[in-house]
Amino acid sequence: MSVAPLQALADAWPAGMLAAVVLFGLAIGSFLNVVIVRVPAGRSLWRPRSACPRCSALLSWYDNIPVLSFLVLRGRCRTCGVPIAWRYPIVEAVTAVALVLAYLAFGPTAEFVVASVLLAALIAITAIDLQHLLIPDVITLPGILVGLVANVATGRMSWIDSVLGITLASGLFLAIILVSRGGMGGGDLKLGAMLGAFLGWKALLFALFVAVILGGVLGIALVASGLRGRKDAVPFGPFLAVGGAMALFWGERVFGWWVGGFGG
Ligand SMILES: [Zn+2]
Repeated sequence: MSVAPLQALADAWPAGMLAAVVLFGLAIGSFLNVVIVRVPAGRSLWRPRSACPRCSALLSWYDNIPVLSFLVLRGRCRTCGVPIAWRYPIVEAVTAVALVLAYLAFGPTAEFVVASVLLAALIAITAIDLQHLLIPDVITLPGILVGLVANVATGRMSWIDSVLGITLASGLFLAIILVSRGGMGGGDLKLGAMLGAFLGWKALLFALFVAVILGGVLGIALVASGLRGRKDAVPFGPFLAVGGAMALFWGERVFGWWVGGFGG
């Protein structure tokens, strides 16, 4: 399903449309940085304006330009010189790249808009889970609803696929939580359900497959290298996020290969 104004711009000026996607991605990334800092702290996303965490100097617009300001300021607060976390430019750049990839994959369509929403949520969740070992309900619970409604509204897939995705993820994660007794949390379950809502049950299976393989490989590598003990918590959210992003682009196709391989 194409979005008429986006389609018109893309037809008239393809390079301009791509540049717009880059700028849009950087701006969304900048907003995600606010989400990543404020949501775990329970603070408002809209007030007050961004300020240096040490000297409280308010950031002017030219100190708040994605990636560029970090480079110009050489990663330090203009007023007090305290180092700015590398997370800021990384999140902005990753978001821009993710949205460009989504645009290249889906074109100026409603599917691109839905993909952008999912990718933005996954980037915020990854950064928060890495830092705080938690996946905020305020992102995943509305995410389940948004995924379902977006699929119905755009006709990306039938609502049955979406509801089956939510159900399958919830069931699988509930079983894992019961068996592992605390190895996996409710936050992972809700993230799984959100992926199921957005991706549908087929691509969800691919997302979980990727997450388990990546998580397993990295978990073994961390324990073997002595960087983490066997009992240390390793967040699973980032693996689910990577699996979900890969499934967004390739999930249905890979599922087709699996079924084709089994069915001949
Ligand atoms: Zn400062």
